[in-house]
Amino acid sequence: AALYAQQLIDPLDRFLMWVDELQVGAASMARLLGVANVPDDRAAGTARPSGELLEASGVRYAYREGRDVLHDVSLTVQPGERLAMVGPSGAGKSTLGRLLAGIHGPRTGSVTVGGVPLVDLPLDDLRGHVALVTQEHHVFKGTLRDNLLIARPDATDAAVLSALQAVDALDWTRGLPAGLDTEVGSGGVAVPAAQAQQLALARLVLADPHTLVLDEATSLIDPRAARHLERSLAAVLEGRTVIAIAHRLYTAHDADRVAVVEDGRISELGSHEELVAEGGSYAALWSSWHGSPSRTSAPS
Ligand code: ADP
Ligand code: MG
Repeated sequence: AALYAQQLIDPLDRFLMWVDELQVGAASMARLLGVANVPDDRAAGTARPSGELLEASGVRYAYREGRDVLHDVSLTVQPGERLAMVGPSGAGKSTLGRLLAGIHGPRTGSVTVGGVPLVDLPLDDLRGHVALVTQEHHVFKGTLRDNLLIARPDATDAAVLSALQAVDALDWTRGLPAGLDTEVGSGGVAVPAAQAQQLALARLVLADPHTLVLDEATSLIDPRAARHLERSLAAVLEGRTVIAIAHRLYTAHDADRVAVVEDGRISELGSHEELVAEGGSYAALWSSWHGSPSRTSAPS
């Protein structure tokens, strides 16, 4: 356990400012990274989730007292569902995504999986239920194997290689001087951004959460790498519940339901067709998007 905690020091150092801003501790940081074996500073309950129904109920959240960012948000996500979240910048989508992934606890209300509040689940249990995927890619100083075992310390080399294969990173891995024993991170072999993201996805395969919250998961990757990554991501999404915070509307179009977040509230919730028929914010967003010739063909 100490080994893995130590590997957190480097990234924690780099993200200290950010952590400070979020006002989270090491355990929350570890949740964000999908990392196990870090002391969890919260009292863990003993209740076990029955099923994977993810439910936010009467959720209020504020980063600073008196400044609510989410107001009375309720949302139920069915196992296997694909839910897209859209809305203006600053509306609270990322905040809601972090609450649904158990990184923040609500100020009032609850976020539960299978009836158990996420904040009552020990880290090791939480990561099997829900994980957050962002554009942050963390490569720790250590071997490539260490970088993957952080998601599941007891994984065999076969499982690690199979996870790398699932995200299409096996060729890159085999080209490294010492394969899984290659030192990466500061002082080691440089890991390009696209491969760093693949490593993040491979960690998810190893952690095997039922639900993924994607927040702009591929937005900062260059277009050549994006297509490759979308394939890897698609493999990781297969068979899981997905909550996608979408900036590209085709993601919303493909989802089972769309939640429109505006000013800290869910203002519209329904299928793409329902929301278009409703003629509200989503319909306006869709018609402005659909009317734009450069964007009518969704990337395949
Ligand atoms: P979105 O993802 O829809 O753009 P966010 O959830 O990121 O919205 O932000 C919602 C509101 O919360 C914004 O007013 C934003 O400035 C504020 N906010 C987001 N993150 C933090 C933070 N770490 N500390 C303080 N305020 C924050
Ligand atoms: Mg956001």
